[in-house]
Amino acid sequence: MDFGRTSREQELRGEVRAALGEPEVRAALDALRGEREPDVRPLYWALGRRGLLAVSWPEEYGGRGASHAEAAAVIEELVHGGVPDMLHVLSIQIVGLFLLQAGSPEQKARLLPAMARGERFATVLYTEPEVGSDLAGLITAATRDGKGYLLSGVKVYGLKSAMSDIGLCAARTGRGPSKYDGISLFLVDLDAQGVRRSHIGSIADEQFDHVEFDRVRLGPESVLGTEGEGWSLLTRCLAIERTGLDYSLKAERWYRAALAGIEPDAADDRFLEQVGRYGAAVDAGRLMAWQIVDRLDHGEVDPAAAAAAKYHTSETAQEVALWAAEVHGLGYTLRALADEQATVLEAAYREAPGLTLSAGTSQIMLELVASTAFAAVEGN
Ligand SMILES: Cc1cc2nc3c(=O)[nH]c(=O)nc-3n(C[C@H](O)[C@H](O)[C@H](O)COP(=O)(O)OP(=O)(O)OC[C@H]3O[C@@H](n4cnc5c(N)ncnc54)[C@H](O)[C@@H]3O)c2cc1C
Repeated sequence: MDFGRTSREQELRGEVRAALGEPEVRAALDALRGEREPDVRPLYWALGRRGLLAVSWPEEYGGRGASHAEAAAVIEELVHGGVPDMLHVLSIQIVGLFLLQAGSPEQKARLLPAMARGERFATVLYTEPEVGSDLAGLITAATRDGKGYLLSGVKVYGLKSAMSDIGLCAARTGRGPSKYDGISLFLVDLDAQGVRRSHIGSIADEQFDHVEFDRVRLGPESVLGTEGEGWSLLTRCLAIERTGLDYSLKAERWYRAALAGIEPDAADDRFLEQVGRYGAAVDAGRLMAWQIVDRLDHGEVDPAAAAAAKYHTSETAQEVALWAAEVHGLGYTLRALADEQATVLEAAYREAPGLTLSAGTSQIMLELVASTAFAAVEGN
């Protein structure tokens, strides 16, 4: 497996590193330090102007027509350079992907170039107070009103709504024989009348959002894909967006921070065994993520492999964060951590519990893998 070592990927990695060293970008990065949930938009604007946010999108929409692997190489370099990636994951990697897959020519032309430039941002609004894993049970409703719709309901536990202009919202537009019928996806202007955004407290740096829709007027151009057929679009896009790359990058970053400054002489056998075990798990996660990315470039979408990658990378990142806390806690006093690594690990410890819930819980990932394996056995 080649971890992004084609000459084009190397060029792009070099371009990102050079951009991160430029004074304007450096200053935008430095401005994020010390903030609990900093506003990353000025940094993204600077990266967007350099064409580094959406390299895999077609050129007509502000991208460079790069491959999935080339885009993954860019993302790795951005994260290695300290760029917070959550808004990128939501806006470019998820909502952008939906638009590319199912947007009308008008929607793509209106939204994608501004998103690629880092001038507009989008977030994901699926979860509801009573509906998480079983998303098909959602009750937020978009009822017909003339040519458009009136949207009412509550979405919770999304991220980055306060920094976003558009919400990709799943809502019910009808009912059918199964609960999967009658679900539609909407691109909602988050500044529209009737939208109320607030935070739900979280121990992690990134605060959760509570977004309420009170008879928000949506035009017909707000529907993404075909009305009532949102579920098949959701499942298709989930299988493409779920590479595990973002989780594997967290695992790698936290593992490196945990090892920083280690005094080898002070490490006992148990500690060295853990260094090897977690290091292998981190490497395996990166390999799994890159295999998914590589397969996407060959037109192969494998939901079970993607679920396995998400499961492994998120579980590993969580274990590494908890291990790092133990290593730097009472049991071991191997070294004094530099401020930078201490900050990374302290935030990791608070972020880790959410990783095995977000973007599909671990149990749901295992269920997906198991049901695919079961179907394959049944089919033979
Ligand atoms: C960090 C973070 C970021 C998030 N970002 C977003 C976002 O941007 N947008 C958004 O819409 N939502 C977001 N969410 C919400 C997330 O998608 C939900 O938390 C998730 O889908 C689980 O739903 P739930 O919390 O209602 O838990 P539930 O679905 O109620 O699950 C509770 C527990 O039961 C288990 N469980 C549920 N069903 C089954 C089953 N069939 N078999 C076995 N076990 C099961 C689950 O695995 C879990 O352990 C985020 C959550 C977190 C933690």
